[in-house]
Parts: sequence; C-alpha cells; structure tokens
Amino acid sequence: MEHSTEKKVKAIPYAVIQLCDVCETGQLLPTGNNKYIPDIQIEHKCNHCGKTQTFQESYPAIRFYVDCDYPPDLA
Ligand SMILES: [Zn+2]
Repeated sequence: MEHSTEKKVKAIPYAVIQLCDVCETGQLLPTGNNKYIPDIQIEHKCNHCGKTQTFQESYPAIRFYVDCDYPPDLA
C-alpha cells in the first residue's frame, strides 16, 4: 500500500494584476457585478478610463510559487 506524506514547504506569494489595454494606464478592478451561469464572469472596470471587461477570476489574483518552483526573477 502506498502512502503520501504531508510536508511543509516554503512558498513565495505574488499578485497578478490586470492592466487596461485601452488607456494603458489604469488597472482593471472588480465591480462586484458578477455572473455565474452559464459561465463565471467576474466584471472588472478600469480605474482610469472606465472600460469594463470580464474574467473568470477576480483580480488582483494572489498566487504563490512553491518550493523548487521559485521564479527566476520576480519584479
Ligand atoms: Zn483604461
């Protein structure tokens, strides 16, 4: 019988933001106006020009690198 072993490893958290491709200045942020049927649509709005766009997740998104998966460079 095989066993898995739980182990704690180091992680480096980072955030991913969505920059506006219209004004190239603002950042797209969640408006709270979301739909889940038939697909996940999280509405975001540019905090500079007001453009709206939907994504399947909310930004800024927090992710992390684990253990040996460390980024070569993280700005
Ligand atoms: Zn914009």
